[in-house]
Amino acid sequence: MLLIRNGRVITPIRVIDRGAVLIEDGIIRSVGPEDDITTPAGAEVIDAGGAYVSPGFIETHLHGGGGGDIMGATTEDIIRCAQAHARGGVTAMLPTTLAAPMEAIVRALEAIESVQGMEYEGAAIVGAHLEGPYFNLAQAGAQNPEFIKNPNLEEIVPILDRFPFIRRVSAAPELPGALELGQELRRRGIVASIAHSDATYDDVIKAVENGYTHATHVFSGMSGLRRINAYRISGVIESVLVIDELTTEMIADGHHLPPSLMRLVIKAKGLNQVCVTTDAMAAAGLDPGSYELYGLKVVVEDDVAPEFEVKRRPGNYVAKLADRSAFASSVATMDQAVRTMTELVGLSVVDAVKMATLIPARIHGMAHERGMLVPGFAGDVTVFDDGIQVQKTIVGGKVVYSRS
Ligand SMILES: [Zn+2]
Repeated sequence: MLLIRNGRVITPIRVIDRGAVLIEDGIIRSVGPEDDITTPAGAEVIDAGGAYVSPGFIETHLHGGGGGDIMGATTEDIIRCAQAHARGGVTAMLPTTLAAPMEAIVRALEAIESVQGMEYEGAAIVGAHLEGPYFNLAQAGAQNPEFIKNPNLEEIVPILDRFPFIRRVSAAPELPGALELGQELRRRGIVASIAHSDATYDDVIKAVENGYTHATHVFSGMSGLRRINAYRISGVIESVLVIDELTTEMIADGHHLPPSLMRLVIKAKGLNQVCVTTDAMAAAGLDPGSYELYGLKVVVEDDVAPEFEVKRRPGNYVAKLADRSAFASSVATMDQAVRTMTELVGLSVVDAVKMATLIPARIHGMAHERGMLVPGFAGDVTVFDDGIQVQKTIVGGKVVYSRS
């Protein structure tokens, strides 16, 4: 049994001062003011020292961390990544693949599968996210164009059968076969997410009518407003902002989107329809330098030219393609995403945390067991200070990271 006491406990609606959380057998047993919770004999007690006690962060889009690369496809890659992100407060994650030959994607899924049931000090693997390869070449971004192709149900269905833990598939809905893919995913309870897409408003309407419910990294890898002669045609960006049936995610590394665009997304969608992610790569949590993202050269630095709305913040690193023409994933962890929302966007800690916990849980069908501190839910807790520096990460009632 584990009792976390003397904390500012974050519920989705408020902060309970001098609050406590009791976890037994990996499951939350009680949450509330600490005076209302009796310490069971023999319980391990953590004094949070007045820090925030939050539901564990849920990361639903990440390609690596701590040198571990999901496409590296070894058990060690997956665990390294789970450890690196636990240091950033993540307790549950969906390792995410990239556009690659299908055999490589299958190898990554086998590695993700191999970790299930293993004991390690890191975030829990609660599924997988296939980002690609069914994308529009016109919106490849940092996905390797060599491996981008049209949806193929005969190819993907056996993979969905073999790896039932796949929770989300990101694809471009305007491609031939993409609507059938949306229907298939929806039938299986897998989140179909619009990504790396050049769709028009009409295409997006059809996507929603055929099972797509989410949009991957809004503003990145998606079409915007076009004009044909006198007439304006909404792209994916405007469609995501205006269609209530779609949820979305923002890459909140402090570089991808300037504060004005993040405010625009929240204004249009409302807080309950938007989650934050890092979309991190293997270099997350490592030093600046040169890295590789599935065959593409990437540079990690903290340089920002002074004319941009996003300002240089020493130590807030960014990953770009080597020619600096585009961002390439990120090197953030979720503590940075929460910090971005409080420091750059001006949200309260309660709202910023919600975008990293309850909202991603809801979007990905996990809100009955994660995303809030509720008796009966997974004993996943992140303890952090006023600067959103993570002090402790607790997964299933076990401390997996402790700041020294
Ligand atoms: Zn992407």
